[in-house]
Amino acid sequence: MKTAKNYKFWFCTGSQDLYGDECLRKVAEHSRIIVEELNKSGVLPFELVWKPTLITNELIRKTFNEANADEECAGVITWMHTFSPAKSWILGLKEYRKPLCHLHTQFNKEIPYDTIDMDFMNENQSAHGGREYGHIVTRMGIERKVIVGHWADRNVQERIASWMRTAVGIVESSHIRVCRIADNMRNVAVTEGDKVEAQIKFGWEVDSYPVNEIADYVNDVSKGDVDTLVDEYYSKYDIILEGRDPEEFKRHVAVQAQIEIGFEKFLEEKGYQAIVTHFGDLGSLQQLPGLAIQRLMEKGYGFGAEGDWKTAAMVRLMKIMTAGMKDAKGTSMMEDYTYNLVPGKEGILQSHMLEVCPSIADGRIGIKVCPLSMGNREDPARLVFTSKAGPAIATSLIDLGDRFRLIINDVECKKVEKPMPKLPVGSAFWTPQPNLATGAEAWILAGGAHHTAFTYDLTAEQMGDWAAAMGIEAVYIDKDTNIRNFKNELRWNEAAFRK
Ligand code: MN
Repeated sequence: MKTAKNYKFWFCTGSQDLYGDECLRKVAEHSRIIVEELNKSGVLPFELVWKPTLITNELIRKTFNEANADEECAGVITWMHTFSPAKSWILGLKEYRKPLCHLHTQFNKEIPYDTIDMDFMNENQSAHGGREYGHIVTRMGIERKVIVGHWADRNVQERIASWMRTAVGIVESSHIRVCRIADNMRNVAVTEGDKVEAQIKFGWEVDSYPVNEIADYVNDVSKGDVDTLVDEYYSKYDIILEGRDPEEFKRHVAVQAQIEIGFEKFLEEKGYQAIVTHFGDLGSLQQLPGLAIQRLMEKGYGFGAEGDWKTAAMVRLMKIMTAGMKDAKGTSMMEDYTYNLVPGKEGILQSHMLEVCPSIADGRIGIKVCPLSMGNREDPARLVFTSKAGPAIATSLIDLGDRFRLIINDVECKKVEKPMPKLPVGSAFWTPQPNLATGAEAWILAGGAHHTAFTYDLTAEQMGDWAAAMGIEAVYIDKDTNIRNFKNELRWNEAAFRK
């Protein structure tokens, strides 16, 4: 499936005509060089497009409105080369609706001590102009990213690259459509939420269908198509029979192949990029979608179990934000399952009854067919694996009744000490920052769910910036978290985010 458009970002340089044509010529030349070099760096995931220097109210307003209208433009990066009186930005900023970044850089890296004079200072005064511009953006209450440093530094380029992915998440959020083929699991609270408010805040469209409408698509899949996909599974994954009859095993796998094809056709035809199922509402489906959902997640679809449309949309959002990333380690829905509380080895085993995305797998992936203790269908086929080590984030979007809160936890993924031969599901194991006790305590105080949208490939900063752009509360649980301050933060946020 298509994960994102061919987005571009505009690079707009601010100045004024006080310094003469020669100065403005150099301003334009410098910004062209910066754009060229940033594009050549290979660090940015999207192309930067140079725009003529902005020096008047009219041009600024016109440029921002063109950015609004250009479907390929995912955001504007602004840079004040000289002093650009900020009242001239008010109308443009007021009408601008896309992500905004303020790159606070200057063309030269070092002060030219031997030659510096007033002309040089007047021409190269980002330190001055960036503050004037920043003031008006703050006064107008506009959410933006400020990135400070020399444009040729790798670290600055990486921050721009990271922000570009956040910006695409902000722009693409309003294109997320979630297909629910079951309602919320009975009596479960945290997976519920206000879908109208979610559409207002995030732009998400969350629709429900009777399960048998999608099951009809599954039933209509041809045997030939199923056989081809089963062959693909058998060539790609290890077949772990564990004493089952090979033919019977294959028939169970074929059911999942049929579900994968039928579901994907349904979602494509109706324009959904995320799906929600529920083990208790399967209609005429023969098995709980397991392997099928795992494969769809790997293709870029969002997923949430037991009616959890918020997690489904968040997983889809993360899939978009990480699309095309070199050396991506993976993104999945996850569920906190069971603890290891041995001192020094504390962690949480993460899994789900079936639906963990194989993009996070480390090493070989196997297929197993095993009974499911919940639900009342035949034994479903599923992909089994363990996951990669390294830093990652787990996020939970909750509805507090009067507002949404995004909880973002830095976690350290680790290898489990021993194989788990009897565990018939994909899994990950992590220790939340700053440690299990404080991390889990903070998570619970914040009201975080048992389902998470998890990724190795985004940072807490990116998800927090996304939340800020959506106008919702975000709380971070990381190496700096202590409970006393965290409780105060939650208390203060009650006031700050009150409607
Ligand atoms: Mn669950």
